Amino acid sequence: MENCVFCGIASGKIKADIVRETGNFIVIRDINPVSPVHLLIISRKHFKNILDARKDKDFDPCDFFDLVGSLARDYSLEDKGFRTVINTGYDGGQTVGHFHVHFMAGRGFGWPPG
Ligand code: AMP
Ligand code: ZN
Repeated sequence: MENCVFCGIASGKIKADIVRETGNFIVIRDINPVSPVHLLIISRKHFKNILDARKDKDFDPCDFFDLVGSLARDYSLEDKGFRTVINTGYDGGQTVGHFHVHFMAGRGFGWPPG
């Protein structure tokens, strides 16, 4: 989609710090990290949010779970843990309207979130 920063990154038109690429996702370092590890798992295909992504019959969530598992392994987080966050819409605090998942680690996170 035109004027979408994450589409630009997925197509290579916009530069990003890419850490992993799969068939369905691209993983980059967040430009404004809030934790020592702060990655963004971005769908290659443009979906506005998780609600749109789930309507696509070709969108396979197993692929996503596998990717999270391999990131946890690569960063040795299986015991320590990490946090994944999907902000959706205004109340959810979503600022980029292209489906993505925050993968954060390297410090403790509080609950409830702010
Ligand atoms: P959200 O608020 O959940 O929509 O998260 C959007 C995230 O994208 C924020 O954490 C931003 O710091 C991050 N972000 C925005 N533009 C870029 C970019 N060009 N490269 C890397 N991260 C970005
Ligand atoms: Zn997009």
